[in-house]
Formats: sequence, structure tokens, C-alpha cells
Amino acid sequence: MCGIVAIAVSERREDLGVILTEALKRLEYRGYDSVGVAVVDSGVLRVAKNVGAVDAVAKLEGFARLSGSVGIGHTRWATHGAPTRENAHPHVDCGMRVAVAHNGIIENYSELKEMLRSRGHVFASETDTEVVPHLVEELKSSGADTYSAFKRAISMLRGAFAIVAVDAGHPRRIFFARKVSPLIVGLGDGVVLVSSDIVSILPFTNRAVVLNDDEVGYAEPGLVFVEALGGGPADLSSRVVQVEYAAEDFGKGPYEHYMLKEIYEQPHSLAQTLSGLVSAKEEVERAARVLGESDNVYVVGAGSSYHASLVGALYFRYLGLRAYAFVASEASVYLRGVGEGDAVVAVSQSGETIDTLLAVRESVRRGARVVALVNNPLSTIAREAGTYVYLRSGPEISVAATKTFTSQVAALVYLGTVLAKDGSHTSRVLEALRRLPEVTASVIESSEGAARSLARRMSSAQSAYYLGRAFGYPISAEGALKIKEVAYVHAEAYPAGESKHGPISLVVREFPVFFTVVGELDELVEGNVEEMKARGAYVVTVLPRDRVTPVLERNSDAMISLPRVSLEVSLVTYVIPYQLLAYYTAVERGLNPDRPRNLAKTVTVF
Ligand code: GLU
Repeated sequence: MCGIVAIAVSERREDLGVILTEALKRLEYRGYDSVGVAVVDSGVLRVAKNVGAVDAVAKLEGFARLSGSVGIGHTRWATHGAPTRENAHPHVDCGMRVAVAHNGIIENYSELKEMLRSRGHVFASETDTEVVPHLVEELKSSGADTYSAFKRAISMLRGAFAIVAVDAGHPRRIFFARKVSPLIVGLGDGVVLVSSDIVSILPFTNRAVVLNDDEVGYAEPGLVFVEALGGGPADLSSRVVQVEYAAEDFGKGPYEHYMLKEIYEQPHSLAQTLSGLVSAKEEVERAARVLGESDNVYVVGAGSSYHASLVGALYFRYLGLRAYAFVASEASVYLRGVGEGDAVVAVSQSGETIDTLLAVRESVRRGARVVALVNNPLSTIAREAGTYVYLRSGPEISVAATKTFTSQVAALVYLGTVLAKDGSHTSRVLEALRRLPEVTASVIESSEGAARSLARRMSSAQSAYYLGRAFGYPISAEGALKIKEVAYVHAEAYPAGESKHGPISLVVREFPVFFTVVGELDELVEGNVEEMKARGAYVVTVLPRDRVTPVLERNSDAMISLPRVSLEVSLVTYVIPYQLLAYYTAVERGLNPDRPRNLAKTVTVF
């Protein structure tokens, strides 16, 4: 949540405001309640901010008129205080010398605010963030230089956060600190950047240092100083990494929205995931060994990653492992009793999801072995898990996960397959997975027309059920989540066999009910389809071509019949019609699917 970025350049730039705007556009997926920038120009601090999207605010507030040699920017996902202009970041001190942008939460802000108020500081916002510039100002007033005051201020904060700051007296210096929330320093030629995400750094450089928890420091072009809070200076020479992404991966291409682009990219992203898994043979085998040797395997994730975890855990069970999935936000309860003989698989697109990170830490503390599945090898979760598998889906900008979900499922299925004891099963599945990119393209093609026409119907629907048995349930859950997220249709996923134990009482004529028929127990779904149809539901079945039976045909108002493929391949691809349906329903409703209300992509607050 919240994107923060800071840029310092060796020569003053007339277009610093434009550069910050471009960087913020790349961070917009992290929050779009408000946008703001602060620059230091010839010893003067200037701030421009407002509520709205980056382009609109930049235009309204004249970001393009801002020049200087150092600046910070912020896109907000509000936690403390409504999304208003006053609460928009950056926040400043009373003397307009220090500006701060912040991602995360400062838990002890009220007591600090009270103390600062009693010392005469006047606050302009309701945010937790604003205590930081005032605290720096207060500490500077007793003679400390800016960096010492900043470091001291950081040591007084409790919570999880990443902070960047500038001071009018330092024309080229960025001050920064990290506690839990991610922060990366980009090292370019004549430019240094500090940001929550590598995406805003990449247009300038692909050389970066990932900050560790509890690190604080400052950067100027050609100079980076980092130290551990309460420890000594860090040696960065061995910590510089080269990032693989190409800047062009971040464009929208010919598509109107990132979400559609990312859905269509799946044949390619899955090919990347698979070839990455094949080439990272050692890591994959190590991960598979960890799972294979464990008494129990726990798979944890949040949101779509949780649904991928459900598919993965069920597949591990199908292979005979004792596997369970649970939501990362409840890990502290579910991990009780987990210990040395167990393995935990942490699934997180960003590798920064706070609940999943805490689950990783708790698992490590309990002596369990942790395998992470992430789409960012520089992420905190990748670094803290004993073993990680890199998904290589490429950057996912749309808030609703699509291609990373299918990559996660593909990686989980692949892991299961590698560890399966039965050699003929393994070679059969690996052979089937080789065809995954091509099958994915044909699933997209087979779903496109039906998804578009169903979207017209769904655009006036209030509610829908998404039902499936066994593997069909988590795929349905992901389908329901998509349409909820981007099209605001209330959609509920349920195990199909449970639908008559309650949910069916809501079904009236034309109530949309989607059935996902995939793999195990699918013959039992037929009965549920008949029950729903008997109550007048509008029944849609998503199923493999060779599973179309007279009963299903008679009772379905619409069918999305997909290529006949192995169980493993269908687990990865059968969600695609639901992704397309959610996308087109949002568009039919005049919504922007890339920017769902109240959501942000990387959830870094509890
Ligand atoms: N707590 C800060 C605010 O509400 C930052 C929020 C965030 O990082 O999501 O403005």
C-alpha cells in the first residue's frame, strides 16, 4: 500500500516534477486516494498535492512547474484520516523545511503528536505520518544536524513503515528508513532513487540495493550511506543487485487496461514460469525435497494467493501429502503446534504482503522449513524464506491478480509433480505442462466470446454464486473474487455440495450460478446443477469439452467448454473465463478494472 519514491540528481533539473510524476504513475497501483510531491529548489521546499489520480493531480497542481535537484512523491492508500488534500502526503514541519512521504503505520503516533503539540507544533492533517517531520524539526531545534535528527526520530517510531524525507537545507540528499515495509535504493549515473518498488526505479537504472529491516540512511547521487538502527554502518558493496525486468514490460501495449493485457499475456507468462522452474532445477528440487520430507505441509497466502494456496494444498493431498491451506492473516493461530518436521509454503505475488511475511517469520521461529513462491526475488519474503521459487510472471500492474495467480498454481503443481514418488505420474504431468502455454492461448480463445456476452447479463446482476467441488471450489473462489474486486458484483463461492445446505434459499428466477467442473467429484456436480436449474437459476457451466453430458447440456443456460486437458493443466487454466468475465463486466459497468475502489495491490498494512 502507498507508493513512495525519492529522486536526487547531480544537476538541477527543470523537469523534476515531470520525472516524479512518471515515477508515481508506476506506483499508482499501490494506492490512489491522493498524490503529492515535494521538491527542494535553491534552498526552498515546495509541496503540491491533492486527491485523485496521478495524471489529474499533476495537471491540477502543476507538478510540471516544479524544478530542483531532489524530490519525493507519494500515492496514498489511506489508513489514518480520510482521503483529503490535507491528509495527502508529503507532510511538512511547521517551518516548511522538512517533507516526508510514508508507507505503513506509525503505531505510537498519538502519544508523539501530543508531546509535539505540547511543544508548540501545529498539525495540518489527521495522519500518523505528520508526526515525523515535526519530530525531526523538534530534534533539530536542539542543535542536531538533519540526519542525526532523522535517525533519532525513526528510532522513536513504533510500527511498520518505509519513509523518505527531504530537507530544504540539503539540495541533493534523500533521507530514508525502513521497518518492515519494503524500500529499495536505485543507483544510477548522476541519479539516486529510493522507492517502495523497483518499477519506478527501472527507467533510470537496474542496479539496486534492497534495504533490510531497521535500516536508516541517506543518499545523494554517487553516495549512499546505510546503517542498522542501533548498529554500525552497512557494507553495501556485496549488496548491489542487477534487476532483470525490461522497462518495456511496464507498458499497456495495445490494450485498454492492464488487466486485459495481463490476462492475454498468460500464455507467455506461464511459459516464463515453466522455463524458469526448469532452469532453477536446484532450487526447485530443494523446495520439493523440503516438502517431501516434511510431516505436514502448510500453504499460506492472502487474496488470490490464498486461492492458489488452496489449489496447491489440495493437489499435494491428491499426491498423498498431508497438506493444509490457510489465510496468512490467521497464521498465528493455525501455526500453533507447527514445528521442525513441518514445511510452510508462503505464496505472495509481491513477496511483501505483511500477513504472509509475518507467517514466514512465525514459521521460521518455530523451526519449520519455509519455501516461498514470489514474483519478486528481491522481496522480503524471498530473502527470509529458506528457499524461494521465483515465478517470473513479469510485472503485474493491474490491482486484480490474473497472470500471477495462474503462475502460482502452475508452480505449485510443478512442485508437487517433482516431489511425487510415482515416476510415471511425474513424466506424464511434466509432458502435459509443456503444452501449457499453447493450451492457455486456446482457453482464452474459447472463453472470450462467452465471457463478453455473459458480461452484458452480469452488468445488471446484484449477486451470483460460484460453485465447484474439490478443485472446482478454489477456482470458483478466485472467479468470485475477480468479479467482486473489479465489477463490484456480490459473488459468493461455495463448495457445490454445500449449496443445498443454505445458499440455495437465495436462488430465484435468473439468479446467476456458475459451476466449475474440473477434476475430482465432477460427476456429483450434475446433481447440484439440476437443483439450481429447478429453482430457475441462470446456470453457467465451465467445463472440459469431453465432460459435456446431456444433463449438463439440458440444465445449463450457457456453457463455456474448454479444451480437454490433464487435471494439472486445467487447474492452471480454468480460471481464465472468470478473469475475462470479471474484466468485461467491469467495462460494461463503466468501471476502470485496473483501479478497483478501496483496493491497493501490495498489502503492507495489517
Ligand atoms: N498511514 C499513512 C496514511 O494513512 C500511510 C498509509 C499507507 O501506507 O498505506 O496516510
